[in-house]
Amino acid sequence: MNNALFTPVADRATCVPRIVIVGGGAGGLQLATRLGSTVGRKGLAEVVLVDRYPTHFWKPLLHEAASGHRDPASDTIEYAAQARQYGFHFVQGELQQVDRIQRLATLGAVLDADGVEILPQRVLPYDDLVLAVGSVTNFFGVPGASQFALPLENVEQAEDFRRKFLAACAKANHLAEQRPEQPVQPICINVIGAGATGVELAAALRHASNQLAAYRFKSLLPDRDVRIRLIEGSARILPALDERLATRAHAQLGQLHIEVLTGVRIAQVAHDSIATATGDRLASDITIWAAGVAGPAALREIGNLRLNASNQVIVTETLQTPDDPHIFAFGDCAACSSDGTSRVLPPRAQVAHQQAVYLSASFARRLAGKTIAGFTFHDAGTVVSLGHAGALFQRQLGVHRRSLIVDGLAASGLYKVLYRKHLLGLHGTKRTLLRSIGDWLRGWNEPSIKLH
Ligand SMILES: Cc1cc2nc3c(=O)[nH]c(=O)nc-3n(C[C@H](O)[C@H](O)[C@H](O)COP(=O)(O)OP(=O)(O)OC[C@H]3O[C@@H](n4cnc5c(N)ncnc54)[C@H](O)[C@@H]3O)c2cc1C
Repeated sequence: MNNALFTPVADRATCVPRIVIVGGGAGGLQLATRLGSTVGRKGLAEVVLVDRYPTHFWKPLLHEAASGHRDPASDTIEYAAQARQYGFHFVQGELQQVDRIQRLATLGAVLDADGVEILPQRVLPYDDLVLAVGSVTNFFGVPGASQFALPLENVEQAEDFRRKFLAACAKANHLAEQRPEQPVQPICINVIGAGATGVELAAALRHASNQLAAYRFKSLLPDRDVRIRLIEGSARILPALDERLATRAHAQLGQLHIEVLTGVRIAQVAHDSIATATGDRLASDITIWAAGVAGPAALREIGNLRLNASNQVIVTETLQTPDDPHIFAFGDCAACSSDGTSRVLPPRAQVAHQQAVYLSASFARRLAGKTIAGFTFHDAGTVVSLGHAGALFQRQLGVHRRSLIVDGLAASGLYKVLYRKHLLGLHGTKRTLLRSIGDWLRGWNEPSIKLH
């Protein structure tokens, strides 16, 4: 632990301002890297990144980790290594409290896997505090959902799901081997929520079941033995995207033998079933909840900040909180509208990335005593991956807001580019290229799915 970081402001040897970024996710790690390698290296500010975990994994890849198509270990970034390379400090801990008058952030104790304390509670002084703590699954108060449905927010949850999925496939395969003449009771997987996350996950699971049958579970007939349902409360899937894209995605999901139920609201989740609002009961071996997100509940306890109904911190066009110019918020945890309307930007990696780029430039200008313009979001389009079946891309065109829809190889290529773009912002061109070659060699040499 770097003890000097916890020294009270009045006793600090350095008088450069300290920018503390809380949350090293899609946005926070980009911001820390950019600020560290610019104002941090030049000695114009001290940049500190705080996260409750020691490592970063890019959240949009979680469905690939959950289906076994990506080994999280090979895509994990150590915050401490990134900090050393790019001129910022890293502190592990969960933000618990903010004293806005004294400008102190309280970080909770860090415990090991057995619950033994590794680090005590600490108080970190700041000059500017940037909240980038992301979002959590919104179960919308559906009874049993938080208890029995699996969320997909971090690597542990993705691994938990993958193990359950693998065990269910192994069991079904064993039964099929033992009693080949009898029909097997299919494994029922219900994905609640057919936004981009739910659609991508359902498609990845169908592909995973096909590959597991090809490599390991030879008696498993995926289309018969693994029943995947995608359930959406709205009248159609992908309600936030263009209807033409949704229609194409729906058709492709049908070809993958994924059952799509639309206009179906979930009223209750139990350990082995789900109940719909109209009283139907659907068997469920694994229920996964991808129906929406909200700001972390902890934000309510932090520093008495103004939040919207989704628990997001309300920010101005410069991403500062209206009550305290020394507190900033961005990414999923912030309620930011960038087009002059009250419409809040969606919780997407693209938004977090653009806001990180904006904040790194605006902090540099602020430190140089220059004026700062407000943040503007430029929608570069949305890609929805359908795993092995390809991808679909949508982009709004011009003021008439007509959409360009692209599928096939071009859309699949764009999907792959998204992650490389994130890596480029974190590692620069040379290291991203080396990493990409390493990934390609690994993919060429190993099965495309984790088999254990
Ligand atoms: C399965 C899945 C697929 C997705 N696919 C896409 C996609 O294809 N395209 C797209 O644009 N978006 C996608 N998203 C959304 C995207 O991942 C988020 O919009 C993006 O990660 C938000 O970035 P962020 O920096 O705000 O938060 P996050 O990336 O969630 O990072 C938050 C960080 O804060 C840390 N943290 C939280 N609370 C505390 C605390 N109290 N103290 C300290 N640290 C804390 C967390 O550990 C984490 O590191 C997907 C999301 C999921 C779950």
